[in-house]
Amino acid sequence: VSGDLLIKNAEVEGRAGLDLRIRAGRIVEIGVRLSGAEPVHDAAGGAVLPGLVDHHIHLMATAARYATVDLSEADDLEALVAALRNQSGVGWLRGAGCPIADALDRDILDRVEPRRPLRIQDRTGALWVLNSAALTLVEGPDHPGERDATGRLTGRFWRADGWLGERIGRAVPPLDRLARELAGYGLTALTDATVGNDAQTAVLLAEAVPQKLTIMSGGPLSHTPRYAVGPVKIVPDERDPPSLEDFTALIAGARVQKRAVAVHCVSDVEAALTLAAFAMTGARPGDRIEHGGLLDQAMIGEIARLGLTVVTQPAFIHARGDRYRREVPPDRWDDLYRCGSLRRAGVRLAAGSDAPYGPADPWLGIRTARDRLTAGGAILGADERIAARQALDLYLSPPDDPGGPPKRVAVGMAADLCLLDRSQAQQLADPRAESVVGTVIDGALV
Ligand SMILES: [Zn+2]
Repeated sequence: VSGDLLIKNAEVEGRAGLDLRIRAGRIVEIGVRLSGAEPVHDAAGGAVLPGLVDHHIHLMATAARYATVDLSEADDLEALVAALRNQSGVGWLRGAGCPIADALDRDILDRVEPRRPLRIQDRTGALWVLNSAALTLVEGPDHPGERDATGRLTGRFWRADGWLGERIGRAVPPLDRLARELAGYGLTALTDATVGNDAQTAVLLAEAVPQKLTIMSGGPLSHTPRYAVGPVKIVPDERDPPSLEDFTALIAGARVQKRAVAVHCVSDVEAALTLAAFAMTGARPGDRIEHGGLLDQAMIGEIARLGLTVVTQPAFIHARGDRYRREVPPDRWDDLYRCGSLRRAGVRLAAGSDAPYGPADPWLGIRTARDRLTAGGAILGADERIAARQALDLYLSPPDDPGGPPKRVAVGMAADLCLLDRSQAQQLADPRAESVVGTVIDGALV
């Protein structure tokens, strides 16, 4: 019967030598020397953890990265040219993660690639830069492209994914391959935080991905059994911030839909605006600050008082930390993706990857939350370190209650599990994705 499984010889919550009986996708018995007609999986002494939850990911964009040139190391024009050189094929050439995108325009890209249509995305996903060959392919009404003083298109598009997507055409990226990669990390639930999500995208994702999905969206989203409707996503554009009145209207609109809100918040301006808006409207359970990428010490008390959840991305300290050390003044390093100070203040805290803008591997996030080590080996914000067990718990709260009590392996829980080749204590001492040897969703090994 699907969803039936007998896991033998596992470590559960630190106790070795246990068996778990799973019926119809639920754990119905945990004991010693269980037997039965179910298919058997030998855990060989390894730990069985609750399946991990990525509370903030962008699935379509992450899957699209498989067909995209990684430009995250292209720190100057020379490196950019080198990364795009020898890309075979015809038609669109796409690069992403580019740290110097803000300094690019169509004329510079025309020198990099004069023939093929080229589009390059910045590190944050807010900006696309197109060369002239690409610009001729994306004509149309309500053109959101940036223009110079003479009215000529610069090739730069800010937060124009929807408009560009309609013109370029949205090929469905290899979601099945991404789902396998994420299962390989022990992830059994995912919250897609893309503001442009609609019902069509949500169904497409739910059909392609075995993990339990929660879908955020900027607009209304109908309820179906295939996915859970998450908070309304609000992205205040820092270059053109909404008025407080517009912001509170967005929150009120979410309340009409009986949904919480999740606010993208990575700068001082965004944080101040977000807290001012919540101070006016009040917060309800489930309201979230996404990222909390730069939170002044003085804001922590207000976040706790409002009861907001912060969904952070510890792995950004690994992936971007060396850049932060060059670009952010040292007296603000503690403000970057805070963990320890928020916990100590009683703020509800959960974690996600923000893939493709951050590394998808939750174990790298757990390791980095514990060590606050950059990829280059420097410590960034030592006071923000938390214990590995606490870091794991950032990924174990349920998708509909991020920052709430972490899931534990127990009778009655859904059989969404992460199987390790070692004990939990060994994994917490050296958190790494390679230790994950199996992932169970609703009792089925995936
Ligand atoms: Zn995001």
